[in-house]
Amino acid sequence: MEECVFCKIIAGEIPSKIVYQNERILAFEDINPKAPIHILIVPKKHLEFKDLDISEVETLGNLILVAKNLAEEFKIQDSGYRLILNCGKDAGQEIAHIHLHLLGGKNLGPMIS
Ligand code: 5GP
Ligand code: ZN
Repeated sequence: MEECVFCKIIAGEIPSKIVYQNERILAFEDINPKAPIHILIVPKKHLEFKDLDISEVETLGNLILVAKNLAEEFKIQDSGYRLILNCGKDAGQEIAHIHLHLLGGKNLGPMIS
């Protein structure tokens, strides 16, 4: 997708601090972190939640698995962390390309404030 910020990050056209990648997934630091650890985990293929179907279930599962592995790598598996997947306007989603937020490194407070 030409206009998609995350596709540009994946293509290397916008610099990012990459913390992990494999064939299908890229994980990088959020530019405006809301916690000491704030990582975005995205499929390398442009995918929007509204277009999700059964064929993408494995991709979604992999996003969660990468998040779990990164939580271990960043040593927050015991203190805890939060995974957020914003969908649409009321959730404040800014970027349509599906992304999982991994947040941790402090007490994150109530789920919704
Ligand atoms: P959303 O609100 O769509 O769930 O989250 C989008 C996230 O992308 C925000 O937390 C925002 O800070 C982050 N973001 C937006 N533009 C960039 C960018 O160019 N680079 C990085 N690393 N993160 C970005
Ligand atoms: Zn995209």
